[in-house]
Amino acid sequence: MAPSSLHVASELYPLIKTGGLADVMGALPSALNRLGAPTRILLPGYPGVMAAAGAMTAITEWPNLFGGGAARVLAGHLEDIDVPAYVLDVPGFFDRPGNPYLDDNGHDWPDNARRFAALSWTGAELARSLDPRWQPDVVHSHDWQAGLIPAYLAADPAPTPKTAIAVHNLAYQGVFPGDTFAWLGLPASSFSPEGLEFYGQVSFLKAGLAAADRITTVSRTYAQEIQSVEQGCGFDGLLRSRADVLSGIVNGADYDVWNPATDHRLPRPYGAKSIDDKEVAKKALRERLGLDQVAEGPLFGVVSRLTWHKGLDLLFAALPVLVERGGQLALLGTGEAGLEAGFRASADRFAGQVGAVLGYDEELAHLIIAGSDVVLVPSRAEPCGLTQIYAMKYGSLPLVRNTGGLADTVVNADAKAIAAGTATGFVFNLATIDALAGTIGWVCDQWQDRARWRSMQQTAMAMDFSWGRAAGDYLRLYEEMVA
Ligand code: ADP
Repeated sequence: MAPSSLHVASELYPLIKTGGLADVMGALPSALNRLGAPTRILLPGYPGVMAAAGAMTAITEWPNLFGGGAARVLAGHLEDIDVPAYVLDVPGFFDRPGNPYLDDNGHDWPDNARRFAALSWTGAELARSLDPRWQPDVVHSHDWQAGLIPAYLAADPAPTPKTAIAVHNLAYQGVFPGDTFAWLGLPASSFSPEGLEFYGQVSFLKAGLAAADRITTVSRTYAQEIQSVEQGCGFDGLLRSRADVLSGIVNGADYDVWNPATDHRLPRPYGAKSIDDKEVAKKALRERLGLDQVAEGPLFGVVSRLTWHKGLDLLFAALPVLVERGGQLALLGTGEAGLEAGFRASADRFAGQVGAVLGYDEELAHLIIAGSDVVLVPSRAEPCGLTQIYAMKYGSLPLVRNTGGLADTVVNADAKAIAAGTATGFVFNLATIDALAGTIGWVCDQWQDRARWRSMQQTAMAMDFSWGRAAGDYLRLYEEMVA
């Protein structure tokens, strides 16, 4: 019997999403189930989750969980989600619309430590047979929101399931004031540099990194990079000391959601054999963003959180070159106020060549991935990155920096790869404005050779990043853990 696993996370596409974590949770557990490994998920009861939880039943109730008031754990099936689920329903913590971590002013909710300690506690209880009918062999925590689970289980003298923690982004560490520790319910010995203490504060992610049996991250290159001072975000020493249990598995893409041949969000679906129909999406995208219908250079697309980590300040600074070369930009994103203002101003300054929508829009995200000639991901750090993987399937060539999962998924169009017919995109090394601007210029040169471009599109579209492979790698890991 394949090992069973419980996946605990704070996001799940399509119910609650701020980034790639939601896409992974929307696909990996069902891919594991398809491989015959019984897999379940635990989520917080955000409004979007509760709206899909009508058919679920309470298996336990607590009068006051970590100060959030009445709590219930629901079990059963969420509407339209094919994986059995548990939901932690604590209205005092999770009945808040909008971004799951931030209030309307963009500040962290002041009770985030309590909200996600409650989630972790519940994950640990499920591991300890809170549900008399099901107990997992492995509990896989995703990111800091579930980071305390391995610490809770490690502190339990009774035998418990194995634990793993998945790092989707090391930069988000769940750091809270030191006095948080007093009510977490962990043994005093955990508040140490070997445990969750982080310069006098507590880090929920560090708790997981220190206590879990295994650490996973979402690409092989990122697994290496986070052991370096530059990309270790203060945890590099800990990660080096745990290198023997750290592994990288590149994310898959959910081709039920991201496939140009079946994408109902496009004006006309297309495939490798009908790639001319990609033009229909391009035309619609230009119309939607107020871009000219004719341009000398390629149309570059961005769908991203607007942050420094994503390197979008570099793109902002390189925009004059993109525009000068006759390129166009279609950008969708939300994030740092300075970047939002910058791209808004660029859309005015370069009207017809630059269009920016500053918001979250699933529909438009698909149109940009499909309608662009090039999808830009100039990240300083990128654990895996998904938009470059989606882009390839849509015949939109990715332009990415040589880091993390970007390095693992895109084959640069250098002379050797072109000759071998393996090139799928464009890769630059240094996180500098000049390097990005130079690469944009190079891509504009390549755009002139349409036959070569077409052949790269065919190679990119034939790449297979479906979840089956990644899920197989996770399954082998779980088998090792329980052996
Ligand atoms: P991260 O998880 O760091 O944000 P990923 O590339 O792994 O980056 O995943 C980003 C996911 O979020 C993709 O599915 C992308 O399409 C989506 N996304 C990001 N920003 C937006 C937005 N403003 N509107 C719609 N989808 C978005």
